[in-house]
Amino acid sequence: MTAAFEAFHLTGSTPEEMAELLSEPPRLGRQIFTWIHRKRVFNCSAMTDLPLQLRNRLNAQETLFALKVIEKKQSKQNGTCKLLLECGDGELIESVLLRHKDRLTFCLSSQAGCALNCSFCATGQSGFRRSLSAAEMVEQALHLACAGNLQSNSTPNLVYMGMGEPFQNYDAVMKSIALLMNPLGMGIGARKITISTAGDIPGIDRLAEEPRQLRLSVSLHAAHDDLRSALVPLNKKYPLQDLHDALQRYQNRRGRQITIEWTLLENTNDSPEEALRLVSFLKGLDAVVNVIPWNPVSGLPFTPSPQKRQDRFMSVLEHAGITATLRQERGGDIDAACGQLRMRRNRSFREKS
Ligand code: SAH
Repeated sequence: MTAAFEAFHLTGSTPEEMAELLSEPPRLGRQIFTWIHRKRVFNCSAMTDLPLQLRNRLNAQETLFALKVIEKKQSKQNGTCKLLLECGDGELIESVLLRHKDRLTFCLSSQAGCALNCSFCATGQSGFRRSLSAAEMVEQALHLACAGNLQSNSTPNLVYMGMGEPFQNYDAVMKSIALLMNPLGMGIGARKITISTAGDIPGIDRLAEEPRQLRLSVSLHAAHDDLRSALVPLNKKYPLQDLHDALQRYQNRRGRQITIEWTLLENTNDSPEEALRLVSFLKGLDAVVNVIPWNPVSGLPFTPSPQKRQDRFMSVLEHAGITATLRQERGGDIDAACGQLRMRRNRSFREKS
């Protein structure tokens, strides 16, 4: 596995660490942190309350920031916005901003590419590149805040649901969360932060021990082992019974409701039988279900579930007393599904070269 791209990026540091790294008093660390995280000023010359000498020193550093925005796509339908960002070593990653009334949700990538190879997902198709650093995750949120014109008195929801498996980059994800929660910066509350996993049990067990009240979402997609292993190969390592046990341990420890994600694929996991299997899996768990129509990825052998089958699936869950929502498709016109924009871009890069 390739190590995270290591360089000195201001955005990966707490105010205290910034002060220490720069050998400056703590007060200046706090000021720089506020400029970047609260005011979202990335040009150090504009940080007017810093001593001139420090501003010049910062400007002389080439790698203060980790990411460059190279493409921004705005959906005409609903304000969804997708950014394609370039890391210092040329890796491409994606971040998405979702808008629902006044509420903004930032969807962050935790890795460049993904090792899990889920059969319906665009990210897995182009393989795994490396894990992202905390700075690279924090900067995604900062760029989305700029793109969404986030007001300084409002905080977004944050979901680690972009490219990659966050629990396979656990420490850097937690560090980025600590930075984005810092009250001198965005000050996002833990309850507004969701980590989405394909079912990495060691990660679920670690999350259960975290002091913060973060939310957990599990991408289930199938509730019997044969089908789930075909859709989410990680299931071969952590099969359903073990996953169920881990979720129960998590709930016994935390007492928190979890979310189950289910991407509907026609004639694959959208039958009433599959819905009933999901109902049985949920026994003993406090969970809500998010059903997501599959966002088509060209070249993959799936089709989105038609409306009639979606409705039938939902009505089985409803009859069983399960709280379930059918998520509206958002951002289909901007390749907003996990990994799509990067895949298209990499393809056109290859075609050009
Ligand atoms: N690895 C983590 C987070 C990244 S995937 C996880 O599996 O949860 C985020 C969510 O998007 C997952 O639920 C995934 O199954 C879903 N997803 C991926 N590709 C999709 C597509 N083309 N259409 C709809 N949902 C998709």
